[in-house]
Amino acid sequence: MSATSSKDAAARLAEVHAAVATAEREAGRTEGACRLIAVSKTFDADAIRPVLESGQRVFGENRVQEAQGKWPELRAAFDDVELHLIGPLQSNKARDAVALFDVIHTLDREKIARALKAECEAQGRTLRFFIQVNTGEEPQKAGIAPGETDAFVALCRDELKLDIAGLMCIPPVEDMPGPHFALLQKIAARNGLAELSMGMSADFETAIRFGATFVRVGSAIFGARDTH
Ligand SMILES: *Cc1c(COP(=O)(O)O)cnc(C)c1O
Repeated sequence: MSATSSKDAAARLAEVHAAVATAEREAGRTEGACRLIAVSKTFDADAIRPVLESGQRVFGENRVQEAQGKWPELRAAFDDVELHLIGPLQSNKARDAVALFDVIHTLDREKIARALKAECEAQGRTLRFFIQVNTGEEPQKAGIAPGETDAFVALCRDELKLDIAGLMCIPPVEDMPGPHFALLQKIAARNGLAELSMGMSADFETAIRFGATFVRVGSAIFGARDTH
């Protein structure tokens, strides 16, 4: 990206922060109740740096390997970055994911839960996790089925003793997101989970109305992406 559009990213970040604050106020929520994850996938270190320089510290990436290519360098300059993995995770990447990320949003099956548990112990790392729920029950989409979520929360939290912060969802693109956010909130509430990771560039204000505590915003900050 050029220097000009990088400068734009910092300006757009300020606009998104303002929109988050407005949505919180309109929903009658405390200012700062919802945190902003700046989703920097597909953008390189030079594009990310201006956003770091304007004070943003919480970032999301969806591919382990891509994140490994840019974040060690950025973290050397900004050591208080909090890095969130928001994309699907394969068991063979669990080691690298645990080494690099602070929070993983895509826990959705027993095999990966056990692999992450083993890696956290092996590396002496404490990560926080979100369980991804496939609220639209889309066959091709990651996430645990809504009806299986309570049992999976119990497995992860009570048996594996993972730090389960809350739930995450990505509503089907063709649906109104509100009912999906409401369903996620209901499942979290009955499981005593405080955090909700929901809402992207197109619908983060709606998500905040439904109780989001983390919104994941990419293109509204960094601009349009070529792929994924
Ligand atoms: C890419 C991505 C986002 C950000 O999407 P935008 O529409 O660019 O805001 C949020 N969540 C997940 C899981 C993503 O993969």
